[in-house]
Amino acid sequence: MLVTLKEILETAEGKGQAVGAFNCTGLESLMAVISAAEELNHPVIIQFAEGHGKLIDFDIMAPIMLSFAHKATVPVCVHFDHGESFDSCKKAIDAGFTGVMIDGSSLPYEENIALTAKVVEYAHEKGASVEAELGSMYASEVGAIEPGKNQELSTEDAYTDPDQAKEFTERTGVDALAVSFGTSHGVYLTKPVLDLDRVTLIKEKAGIPLVMHGGSGLTTSEFQTAIRNGIRKVNYYTYMIMEGGKAAADYVKQADDQGIYFFHDIMNAARDAMKKQVMEEIRVFALEK
Ligand SMILES: [Zn+2]
Repeated sequence: MLVTLKEILETAEGKGQAVGAFNCTGLESLMAVISAAEELNHPVIIQFAEGHGKLIDFDIMAPIMLSFAHKATVPVCVHFDHGESFDSCKKAIDAGFTGVMIDGSSLPYEENIALTAKVVEYAHEKGASVEAELGSMYASEVGAIEPGKNQELSTEDAYTDPDQAKEFTERTGVDALAVSFGTSHGVYLTKPVLDLDRVTLIKEKAGIPLVMHGGSGLTTSEFQTAIRNGIRKVNYYTYMIMEGGKAAADYVKQADDQGIYFFHDIMNAARDAMKKQVMEEIRVFALEK
């Protein structure tokens, strides 16, 4: 059942849980995520990141994702992740996506507000919801830096300011806010320094569902404290897709004995491993383990 981002996050808010938002870069990851959510009977967000257009075309994935969402036995939001412009967000909304993220976090504050407000106006007119980002998913000596973002920022500049989050929310009318409190995208090379109390402060001031990016690699307890403090959507991709890659590699190693490689078996091994991983994380985000 296809639902909006706002609807799926309101349900999560009522239960004090977070919904997993998993990037789909092919049929295997999409099938893994949907079947994991159905098996657990939990709502889920499937998302296509604009930056993943270099892996597979939006135009190929969008109708397939929407079809899976419509047929699913659980509520599913189809979300556009890290939209880089009004036009790309508009394209996703026009395609039928029920949520879009406009990422203006690398812009000056006032420009981020203006761009976000413009996307919100269009999205709400069409019945879709909007996530925006304030602060930077900081990566100093850790994993990958977000493309186009300033590596020289001090920690205080990179972390989301609670008062600014309140003002930003009021002026843009955004439905959910991605906040920065020490997580970063990609693979962690050293342990991230998290400011989990900041999540509570932002939640109190902004009063809307908060989103965590760059959560892959955190401990269960770190995830769950962030969720108790107000995180309602957790973006998750890196460790899921690495799990799939590892399963495919293991399968190939086994097949080396016979020297027979059926590509469909490699894909299915990856899909099954990703499903298992996604089920684990959905249960963590629902505070069930
Ligand atoms: Zn992100």
